[in-house]
Amino acid sequence: MSRTITLLGATGSIGASTLDLVRRNRSEWQVEALTANCSAKELAVLAREFGAKVAVVGDESCLPDLREALAGSGVEAAGGPEALCYAAQRPVDMTVAAIVGCAGLAPTMAAVERGGTIALANKEALVSAGNVMISAVAKHGAILLPTDSEHNAIFQCLSGGKMEDVAKITLTASGGPFRTWDAAAINAATPEQAVAHPNWSMGAKISVDSATMMNKGLEYIEAHHLFPVGLDRLGIVVHPQSIIHSMVEFRDRSTLAQLGPSDMRVPIASCLAYPERMETPLEPLNLANIGELTFQAPNEDLFPATRIAREAIETGGASPAILNAANEIAVEAFLSGQIGFSRITAVAEATLARYDAPSPSTLEDVLAIDSEARKRAAEALEHAPLV
Ligand code: NDP
Repeated sequence: MSRTITLLGATGSIGASTLDLVRRNRSEWQVEALTANCSAKELAVLAREFGAKVAVVGDESCLPDLREALAGSGVEAAGGPEALCYAAQRPVDMTVAAIVGCAGLAPTMAAVERGGTIALANKEALVSAGNVMISAVAKHGAILLPTDSEHNAIFQCLSGGKMEDVAKITLTASGGPFRTWDAAAINAATPEQAVAHPNWSMGAKISVDSATMMNKGLEYIEAHHLFPVGLDRLGIVVHPQSIIHSMVEFRDRSTLAQLGPSDMRVPIASCLAYPERMETPLEPLNLANIGELTFQAPNEDLFPATRIAREAIETGGASPAILNAANEIAVEAFLSGQIGFSRITAVAEATLARYDAPSPSTLEDVLAIDSEARKRAAEALEHAPLV
């Protein structure tokens, strides 16, 4: 029997990996809704190919293009932020949350409030909303399947284990493209260099986050919410080969690790098939060819993002949402050539220092903090010249 699926962020990197798996198992899935921001033509092609019922662009100004590209297809076209939530509210067996940034928060919460099963790639949504989202998941009986490779690895390692037996959860980090660079070279890094990740092929924003190590900082916060073992039991180790995707040590000092190719189709397949397994088109792991797996401690002098994120979640309240919003603004500014690479984390830290807000208790609170933090980060940019 086929299952229904909605893909929020269908035109992105996670979207493409998910649709590749759906395409290979076409008879098992019925596509309900596909969304994008403004890639109207690409979205229309996908909606036609997969026979989606609904296609939505988040940017309403792109709706005429979407309508034109879908003319005669029978696919319903819609646009705007509310339309993204409308797509996410439609009943389906599986929602893949793969919009980038806090823009994915409201649609992801719409799927949560429907009590859906959600494959969560959109880490910024959970980082920003934190306890607000986790409480809503419990209240509405939703299921979050961690799709980020590290969290999916932890989820797999924990299966069959008890949270109270966990001694430590360790997130692995590739270290990004600048792991071996010195401070001067990192400072002069260009957007092209920052998006060229050595192991993973990803969207521009997460690639820059990987280069600053903010991606690992956001993942640390994400892990705290998904696997509440306490911050003192959460760690990060740099593992440049990206073969071990994360590990869990239990109190008897037994450590379980999940290994696999650096391809998001592996964790996505684990979510799509959960609790079963499905085939992927990937080559088997050849450890003899890989040769060695190495590890080192993160260098927080050169890459302060993990420290900043750890401090933000230790502070709690509004801090993770402020950090996320400021980072999104700073990454955009870096990608558009407005600021130098090292200023990204400086802007995030400056925004955290300058803005304090009460702890959010509703989605509206989180969105208001996000919006204000973006304004404050834009102000901080003015004090952050090119280098
Ligand atoms: P991409 O930039 O490749 O794709 C982003 C998707 O979100 C696109 O469909 C884009 O549409 C849509 N989008 C962007 N802005 C908005 C908006 N304002 N409103 C509605 N839709 C929007 O990102 P990735 O696929 O790389 O990442 C998606 C999420 O998954 C991120 O949160 C990332 O951290 C996470 N993730 C990604 C991994 C990866 O390997 N790529 C690994 C682990 C997690 P459009 O094409 O129109 O711009």
